[in-house]
Amino acid sequence: MGELKKINLAGLSRHKLRAMFEKLDEKPFRADQVMKWIHQRGATEINSMTDISKSLRGRLIEISEILLPRILTSFSSSDGSHKWIVQVESGSKVEMVYIPESGRGTLCISSQAGCSLDCSFCATGKQGFNSNLSAAEIIGQLWWANKKLTGFNEMKERPVSNVVMMGMGEPLLNFDNVMDAISIMMEDCAYGLSKRKVTISTSGVVPAIEKMRGFTDASLAISLHAPNDELRSQIMPINKKYPIEQLLRSVKDYMASLNDKRVPVIEYTLIKGVNDHRQHARDLAELLKSLPCKINLIPFNTFSLSNYERPSNSSVSNFRKILKDAGYTVTVRTTRADDIGAACGQLVGDVADQTSRSTRYKKRFPREIQSSNIDRNLVALAEKM
Ligand code: SAH
Ligand code: SF4
Repeated sequence: MGELKKINLAGLSRHKLRAMFEKLDEKPFRADQVMKWIHQRGATEINSMTDISKSLRGRLIEISEILLPRILTSFSSSDGSHKWIVQVESGSKVEMVYIPESGRGTLCISSQAGCSLDCSFCATGKQGFNSNLSAAEIIGQLWWANKKLTGFNEMKERPVSNVVMMGMGEPLLNFDNVMDAISIMMEDCAYGLSKRKVTISTSGVVPAIEKMRGFTDASLAISLHAPNDELRSQIMPINKKYPIEQLLRSVKDYMASLNDKRVPVIEYTLIKGVNDHRQHARDLAELLKSLPCKINLIPFNTFSLSNYERPSNSSVSNFRKILKDAGYTVTVRTTRADDIGAACGQLVGDVADQTSRSTRYKKRFPREIQSSNIDRNLVALAEKM
């Protein structure tokens, strides 16, 4: 018989780690010690945990280990952003991006290798779905950003102040692992990020939004991208299952459960000639009337398999003005890290597509698929770990 698989301590929430120590007849506060070693000091060896007795370390080594995903390559953008390619257990590669801004550092992380939802404007969707990331592979992205950017130096300010689940994949279709990972992000004995600074972005998996309030109080961003069901169903197939009214109802209920003044962010990718007409802006203003929210406009980022185009700057400002005049707080996402193929929707990794969607696209676009965004205009460095 094969050996039992060891528990990976890196992906355990505080709750699960405490339960593990209780089963071992140990005090639950051991969980906090272990989390500090892994997530604040970057430990990868149980034996380095010097405030835990040698005999307990020995027992831990028998049943558990600390496993983090592998970083294959790093890219640095001329604007100070970084992108890392992460190898996950299924064999696929996913991407994460770090964007420094004055006063904050945002890490955009992936939750799945590929995505099954096939939104028409998204490079990740074109790859199909390969696998869910484990909790350790999700939190491992934040672990690596700390390691790479400051080497877990406790004297230095932590480089990541905000995490957004806006990388590859639909976080709410990998519910349990995402909930465990974001709980680790928010624990004081780990990364200590505030609930305001951890954001889940979803295309609108309504039952999972409804379930969320039992698990987290993280911030929420909704990928809306259209002001009516007809258009939204054309560009986001998930809308056929969970139409706009149901989606907005679940968002309102979630926000009400938070008991604070936070509002959701409504993301709206502007695609030339598709959803960027002035009438779309007016309809959007009307649709969101009863939902306090901020609107984030994202001018479409091009990628090689798409025929869509980015609207002109003036059409973006017209769209914005209509919403502002209607009383909304509107931001336009400036494209960062475009030179390393790390802007929203450009993340592709290298995914073995289980749904064979990428094969279908390969047949249609045989040449383009060879050159992924990752290879475009690279500024720098392929680091060896
Ligand atoms: N699956 C989740 C999170 C990942 S996508 C979601 O859909 O919300 C993160 C954001 O990037 C989403 O708002 C998505 O709609 C947007 N996006 C995807 N492709 C894009 C593209 N080509 N240009 C601009 N934004 C894009
Ligand atoms: Fe998946 Fe989000 Fe891309 Fe849609 S936009 S295909 S949900 S990753």
